[in-house]
Amino acid sequence: MTDETTTPRRSAGPLAAPGRIKEISSAANPIVKDIRALAQKRHRDETGLFLVEGLKLVLDGLDAGWELGTLVVSKAALQGGSEVLTRTVSRAVAFGADVIEASAKVLEAIARRDNPQSAIGVFRRQLAPLAKISLGPGEVAVALDRVRDPGNLGTILRTADAVGAKAVVLVGDCVDPFSLETVRATMGSIFAVPVVRAKEAEFLAWRQGFSGQIVGTHMAGTLDYRAADYSGATLLFMGNEQAGLSAEMAATCDRLVRIPQLGRADSLNLAVATGVMLFEARRKALTL
Ligand code: SAM
Repeated sequence: MTDETTTPRRSAGPLAAPGRIKEISSAANPIVKDIRALAQKRHRDETGLFLVEGLKLVLDGLDAGWELGTLVVSKAALQGGSEVLTRTVSRAVAFGADVIEASAKVLEAIARRDNPQSAIGVFRRQLAPLAKISLGPGEVAVALDRVRDPGNLGTILRTADAVGAKAVVLVGDCVDPFSLETVRATMGSIFAVPVVRAKEAEFLAWRQGFSGQIVGTHMAGTLDYRAADYSGATLLFMGNEQAGLSAEMAATCDRLVRIPQLGRADSLNLAVATGVMLFEARRKALTL
């Protein structure tokens, strides 16, 4: 288990002490300032908390059993009689979360945009340990070498969720999976797919005991990605947006595949390439 692995501190349910409800109208309120600070990675790392925008995503998090610390809701929407918002407030309070009934200014300040969603949740992050990755025949996980773009990572998490991938492993210096932009792009899949963070050396050590195959994707790959055999346990290894897979990471792969291209583009966008690979590797499992 890496020292970054976190698990929920308390479980949801009737044993949790009920949360408190406060009304806040000023964006200068210290509680609001603390929540706004979660836009910065340093504060997320210090507190282990992250922001989730929108009622649907907040409900996804609660349904998945993640720890909600604070729920910020639009006072105007509550007064307007939104039933689902009222029910969510009751659920959050029963769970033990604090609830802030906020003015539009407060919500805009936290979301850092106009017309913010009517609910923003402050959740405790969860990371899975590398040792927990367990893949059966035909199952896949994705490893990303130094992914830098939050939109790419969020899209990959969403796609990994859609094909039933078992985990997304962030190798080396990757963008924070709990940034607002990444969480937005996951559309709730942040709560569905275990995310692992590993330094290169940790990944290489884990790789020694991994009995499945690692399929790297590479512009210099000599095997067409459709010709690879995905019937065993497969870890798909995707490269950095600019530099691709490092030589060291490419060398640890069992095979390097390429997605054939026509036209003038040098390469596919990382999230698109990951989607193509995931749907091919899971083709047999994906039947309508
Ligand atoms: N300049 C980089 C290079 O030469 O590797 C391009 C990186 S590409 C934008 C990001 C990643 O997407 C690659 O490292 C690879 O994992 C995947 N990728 C993109 N297009 C691909 C293709 N046609 N075949 C295999 N992998 C591809």
